[in-house]
Formats: sequence, C-alpha cells, structure tokens
Amino acid sequence: MGVRGSWERTARGAMLLGDDGALRPTIFAEMSALAVATGAINLGQGFPDEDGPSEVLEAARQAISDGVNQYPPGRGLPVLREAIAEHQERFYGIRVDPDREVLVTAGATEALAASILALTDEGDQIVAFEPFYDAYAAVAALARAELVTVPLRSPGFQPDLDELRAAITDRTRIILVNSPHNPTGAVFGREVLELIVELAHQHDAIIVTDEVYEHLTFGVEHVPVASLTGAADRTITISSGGKTFSTTGWKVGWLVAPPHLLEPVLAVKQYLTYVNGAPFQPAIAAGLRLPDRYFLEAAATLQRKRDILSAGLDAAGFEVGSPDAGYFVIADAAPLGAVDAAAFCRALPELAGVAAVPVTAFVREQNRADYAALVRFAFCKREDVLERAVAQLVGLSR
Ligand code: PMP
Ligand code: GLN
Repeated sequence: MGVRGSWERTARGAMLLGDDGALRPTIFAEMSALAVATGAINLGQGFPDEDGPSEVLEAARQAISDGVNQYPPGRGLPVLREAIAEHQERFYGIRVDPDREVLVTAGATEALAASILALTDEGDQIVAFEPFYDAYAAVAALARAELVTVPLRSPGFQPDLDELRAAITDRTRIILVNSPHNPTGAVFGREVLELIVELAHQHDAIIVTDEVYEHLTFGVEHVPVASLTGAADRTITISSGGKTFSTTGWKVGWLVAPPHLLEPVLAVKQYLTYVNGAPFQPAIAAGLRLPDRYFLEAAATLQRKRDILSAGLDAAGFEVGSPDAGYFVIADAAPLGAVDAAAFCRALPELAGVAAVPVTAFVREQNRADYAALVRFAFCKREDVLERAVAQLVGLSR
C-alpha cells in the first residue's frame, strides 16, 4: 500500500499510483517479472537477448580503463555529439551543429520527459498516436498537459488524415510522433509526416519525434520528420543507442533540435539527471560510426526473426500483423477465443511458457475495446529462442 494523505489528490507522483495507492509497475516490468517467476520465454519486454557489436562493447571497456568515469559535460561528451551530427548527415543529409543542436540524454525516455516538461504548460495539449509507448501518457500527466490522441487501426496502423487534421488545433503545443512505431511496427507514410509538418506550421506546434527504431526497418525507408521541408526549425528528434546497438541497459539516448528548442530542454535535463553514463558515450559514438554494413545486417537479422515469429504465431492460430519495423509483432488472439488481451497475457506463461504484452497497455481505458484481444510479441530474441517459443505456442490451439 502506498502512503495515503491529503497530498495524494494532487501530487504528481501519486497520480501514477494505482487506485489503491500502490505502485503499479509498468506492463513491461510486470510481464518480465512474470516470465522470471514462471520460467517462461520473455517475448514481452523489448530487449535483445544477445550482445551488440563487439566494437561498441570494447569501446566502453576501453573508456573505463582510460578513466572516462567522471561527470561528462551537460550536453554530452563531444565525441558522441559529433558522431550524432555525422550520423544525421550520413544517413539523412541533415546538417546539425554538434555544439548547439545535439543533447545527450539518459535514454530516449529522458529526452521525451525533458522535452515535454520543458515545452508544455498546464493544460496544453499534446497530440499523440494511440496505441502509444507507455511513457507518453505518464509524462504528459506529470506535466499536467492534456493528451489528445489520433487512433491507429489494424491493419496497417496508419493514422487517418482527416482524424489527424481534426486533432491538431491552436491548443496543440506538441505533436508527438513515433515512427517507426511501438507497439505496431508501423512506419508512417510520407504523406502523414508531411501533413504533420503542415499542421504544426498552421497551429504553431512543436513536433517531438521519437525515432528510436530508425535503423530497424524491413525494406521500408525511414524518413525523419526533421528532413522534411520546413520541419527542422520546429522539431525535436529523439533517438537512442539502445535499439540500434542492442544496449538497452546503457540508457544512452539523444535529441537533435534547433537551439531555441534545445536550450529549455537542457535547462530541465540538467536537473533531472544532470548528465549520464560517461564511458558509454564514446562507445555509442563508435557504434554510430560503424560502416553501413552493420546497420543493414542488424535490420536484415531482425527481419528474419520477425518472419520466424510471425509464421509461428500464424501456425498457432493467431491473426498476425506485418510490422515494417521495430522489435514487435501484433497478433490478434481472438481466433484462439481470447476476449481480453491482459487476462490472456497473464495466463500465457502458464499456458504456453511464453510471456507477451497486451496492446491495451498502450491504449487509454476509454479506447481499449478496439484493441481488446491484441497481443504484442517481441522478436528481438535469438532464433532458437523464437523457434522454441513458437513450438510452445502451437500447442495453444490443440
Ligand atoms: N520510445 C519508444 C518508442 C520505445 O520503444 C522505447 C523503449 N523501448 C523508448 C522510447 C525508450 O528508450 P530508452 O530505453 O532509450 O529510454
Ligand atoms: N521499450 C521497451 C518495450 O516497449 C521496454 C522499455 C521499458 O521497459 N520501459 O518493450
């Protein structure tokens, strides 16, 4: 039980507690704990079960040996900021000033939190696409901003352009984009991104774009919002080394933004974490400078894993989506008789020795009926682990 008191009605931290005042772990923590407790294969929380490139791991070891162990500068070590700027130019032709337009953060999560806290006032609207990554609603609530959502519907999970137009108004302060998208694996079409930029201009909104899966696309081009005409000056682009280099536990992320947006975000960030992870910063810099081959192979490997898991889920009786990117596939468990994905996911470790995450965890209560039986499975796991999971899941329909 949490501590109860009169402060609880208004305190920001208490808002994130459950109705009974107790801490509610995130769905990822809950399902990972269930997987550990039951010995189930964890296809819930999105983290790879293999290490990333040895050059990156070795660079971190070297940095520790070399004494890179004290507070780095507030904006991040120059070597990483320069590598981020080079990366933006090399992959997208976007030129940024590493000294003024790049900020290293404690994962993409801190970049998101600092951006929202810095740039919204109480009552401002944030427009996001639902389902959305769980931190979006939590941080919006901490900022006392109002979350307005545009639905993404199966199949395809692309936003409807008219619904997008209707959602963005003069009250919109931030348009929060996530493409490639978690949990659906959708990559927003260029016409969607162009409309977002147009509407941001029309209503003087800021675009915050979470592009952590930028390199994990399967035959589909990733178009950074900031690369579109007229976007860069009002866009904060967020990414992270976690997904690209299989180092989710290092929590090295960053944002790229024009100085007039970056400075207030830095002002907030310096009191959230001040700085983060000194020896991991040169290591992620080494990763960003790896040859193209690394990035292509990482995506190709993941695509193979997607295909193994998708085929297996299909054989097990799920109706399976076809993600164009990311770590996850959405599967409808309704053909297996499921009506409530959360209950299904709580039972799945016992039933099949596999953990997954209900898509309803990414959807607000009032909209959950539309996603009732959808389950998210992670395929960022070894192929033999996926094969084993699939073999166990096939038993479900028998
Ligand atoms: N945004 C999205 C869409 C994510 O999926 C994740 C993590 N899986 C994050 C942000 C958080 O990234 P980080 O671990 O770098 O904070
Ligand atoms: N982003 C990862 C996922 O979607 C998990 C991150 C977390 O546990 N907060 O599974």
